[in-house]
Amino acid sequence: MTTGIDRRATLKVDADVLVAGGGAAGVAAAVTAARQGLSVVLVERYGFCGGGAVAGLSGTVCGLYEASDRPDARPRQVVFGFADEFVRLLESRGGLTPPQRYGKTWTRVHDPLMWREAADHVLREAGVRILFHSVITGALLDGERVIGAWAWSKEGPVELRARISIDASGDADLVAMAGFESFVGDNGTVQNPTMIFRLGGVDVPRFVAAYGEDTIMPEPVSALLREHHGHGWFLPRSKIWLFPTTRPNELLCNCTRVVGADGRELNTLFARDFTDAELEGRLQMRQYARFFREKLVGCENAYVVDTGVQVGVRQTRQARGVATLANADILAGRKFADAIARSPWPIELHAGAKPRVEWLLDDWYEVPYGCFVPVRGEGLLTAGRCLSAQHEAVASARVTAQCFSYGHAIGHAAALCLESGIAPRALPGQAVRAALDRSGARLDEEAVATR
Ligand SMILES: Cc1cc2nc3c(=O)[nH]c(=O)nc-3n(C[C@H](O)[C@H](O)[C@H](O)COP(=O)(O)OP(=O)(O)OC[C@H]3O[C@@H](n4cnc5c(N)ncnc54)[C@H](O)[C@@H]3O)c2cc1C
Repeated sequence: MTTGIDRRATLKVDADVLVAGGGAAGVAAAVTAARQGLSVVLVERYGFCGGGAVAGLSGTVCGLYEASDRPDARPRQVVFGFADEFVRLLESRGGLTPPQRYGKTWTRVHDPLMWREAADHVLREAGVRILFHSVITGALLDGERVIGAWAWSKEGPVELRARISIDASGDADLVAMAGFESFVGDNGTVQNPTMIFRLGGVDVPRFVAAYGEDTIMPEPVSALLREHHGHGWFLPRSKIWLFPTTRPNELLCNCTRVVGADGRELNTLFARDFTDAELEGRLQMRQYARFFREKLVGCENAYVVDTGVQVGVRQTRQARGVATLANADILAGRKFADAIARSPWPIELHAGAKPRVEWLLDDWYEVPYGCFVPVRGEGLLTAGRCLSAQHEAVASARVTAQCFSYGHAIGHAAALCLESGIAPRALPGQAVRAALDRSGARLDEEAVATR
């Protein structure tokens, strides 16, 4: 067998904690572990943090507020801790809108540049060593124990050694590289990717006057899309979300449905599907943008500002954990004694022409610690959307406020393990929960503030 050769010297990095990936979960995990006095290295393939929220331009912080049917309902925040800290930081920099209506709940639109800068700020302030433009390419193993990872950088290969590694890659890359158990969606079927884009030159007040304040577009817009799809237009998704942003004339457009030529949901774990998703996403972006300009009130002079750096990836590979969040846990608002995060977000399943939304009203569910502890492999935890959760459960549990919460929890878990010399799988979730409550997560508060 022939292998590629790289004769350059290997850069060696030692740390207490390695965080693979700098999305919402990776940033929160790295900052939290570093704040506990640990040396932390975070490895990110792009030149900035944010992952799906920034490179994928998902664009809003969902998962902070309860949903409600009550006519007098106001945004009631139930998720705090690192998520709340980051949201306040964005807000203080003018990088976040007030809560906006999203069906029966609310979300907040962030500025993707400010997200990057806010992440730079918290990581540097906590003393995290960041390696941007570096890609994790392999797990370093000592038997069943993960003792770090290999990475590739422009400088050459990088050998990263760590006492605990956190897979926050979104795709459970490190878990898969180590050969530990993982799974993909519903027997391999994942939710479709979406190419998100920003539309400038919009008369937002006229747009809102015509279509209302709910960022989930009303039925007449869906009907218009259905009427034109297939008649000179390619508009495969009719239920769409359009959000006014922090900029005066701009909409964030979550509307494309990127599928393969055969109609199947593309799985970006495959090189060909990932490539097709980018190509198809850009084509659809132009179709929807032209449609909005020609057909929607307030969009007559609209133009595309940008797309995500990459197509938005909702779901890929997930690590098999010692606990798995079940679909039924979401709608039952289930709580667990060893839970380390809360979520009030609905199931939002993106498959087919119309995403399916199932609400959890005036309540939240909790996510157990075991969803982040791989069934096999020592010295390794996961954080973020690659948690162990069933297909529909992950369609709720993957949103940004929760990914921040998972990272917050797993950063504490790593610190507790290293302090006490116990393995992640031996650590009780209750100990993580107590540490989170001491650092502002308010998981045991019944009454929560209204903002
Ligand atoms: C189209 C779309 C719309 C969405 N809309 C919303 C929304 O409106 N509101 C909301 O709250 N959430 C939304 N989400 C969900 C949310 O954005 C993501 O689920 C969340 O940001 C995931 O965070 P994460 O940290 O778990 O993973 P990711 O954000 O995927 O972060 C993983 C990071 O790891 C890096 N990485 C991956 N592999 C490697 C490697 N091998 N080496 C080095 N680095 C690596 C990536 O570059 C990335 O930065 C949406 C998602 C999509 C796709």
